[in-house]
Amino acid sequence: MSTSINLAVIPGDGIGQEVVAQGLKVLTAVLPQDVKLETREYDLGAQRWHRTGETLPDAELEALKHHDAILLGAIGDPSVPSGVLERGLLLKLRFAFDHFINLRPSKLFPNTATPLAGRPDIDFVVVREGTEGPYTGNGGSLRTGTPAEVATEVSVNTAYGVERVVRDAFERAASRPRKKLTLVHKNNVLVYAGHMWKNIFDKVGQEYPQVTTDYLHVDAATIFFVTQPERFDVIVTDNLFGDILTDLAAAVTGGIGLAASGNINPTGAFPSMFEPVHGSAPDIAGTGKADPTATILSVALLLRHLGYEEQAVRIEEAVSADLAERDGTFRSTDAIGDALAARVAG
Ligand code: ATP
Ligand code: MG
Repeated sequence: MSTSINLAVIPGDGIGQEVVAQGLKVLTAVLPQDVKLETREYDLGAQRWHRTGETLPDAELEALKHHDAILLGAIGDPSVPSGVLERGLLLKLRFAFDHFINLRPSKLFPNTATPLAGRPDIDFVVVREGTEGPYTGNGGSLRTGTPAEVATEVSVNTAYGVERVVRDAFERAASRPRKKLTLVHKNNVLVYAGHMWKNIFDKVGQEYPQVTTDYLHVDAATIFFVTQPERFDVIVTDNLFGDILTDLAAAVTGGIGLAASGNINPTGAFPSMFEPVHGSAPDIAGTGKADPTATILSVALLLRHLGYEEQAVRIEEAVSADLAERDGTFRSTDAIGDALAARVAG
């Protein structure tokens, strides 16, 4: 654990700006006096692209490398063609910094609306592979735009890539009280990749006899997310399955305003990046309606990653207590940030 944190901040677009301000407020409040927090803000996102045509210039990519971690608000705006910022900024960062773990905890907090009957006890974390699967841009289109068009999108799975994410998931499972890890894939149909995932999972599992393991096809997993979410502790899965499952997980645990995530390189070779799962929500930008809790919980993940476990827990407990006591009246973005900052400082 360092005695200073050199943080890169990318507020981004729409409500990204608003929620990041609250995240920083809580971060400042929770850190011990003797930890020096330095921040540098990066102007990246839709406005920058409109102004200069740039998404993530190499000079900024280089500068970002020298931070301990990155806090991101949200990137994206309907005025920018789909894919420009995703590929030119978000995926570029993920590949450049080799963020092979996409971490998404799912917890049902008190007083949070869930569409599930009987308020099951939901507290699991999805470890999604971040750099492979169908996300590598490997594919193409033949006879584009004609009735005879053929498009391919190749799912890339390397033993190296699968083993490192599976190992990380076993480590996380071993450190949690329930010590249970579920592999989710579709190895009855995607046999080449699916069998490799399962074989590697079984092999690495031999080193973790204390961890109980399970395997589910992704279609069955979607059913259990809704009917028996309490059966999950840690889930490890492929990039695309993880994308879909974690949105489902956010929906059953009270929605997008509470869902936090980390794009992590556990080796520490590059800074990891923490962000709320939601997007820039242009429909509510500037109205004070954005819930900053997801960003504040992302700050907790950031602190845990940097070794500030006690401060991370303090933020999570503050969110829990704050939600337990809330009486349902509307609170602005700022008011939620203030309430949580006061709780973690106290
Ligand atoms: P993206 O493509 O960037 O994921 P999106 O179009 O999927 O964006 P989001 O920006 O994630 O959409 O938001 C979807 C809707 O959920 C928004 O229009 C907004 O009404 C609501 N929403 C998102 N984030 C929040 C938040 N933090 N607090 C309250 N409501 C939110
Ligand atoms: Mg979205």
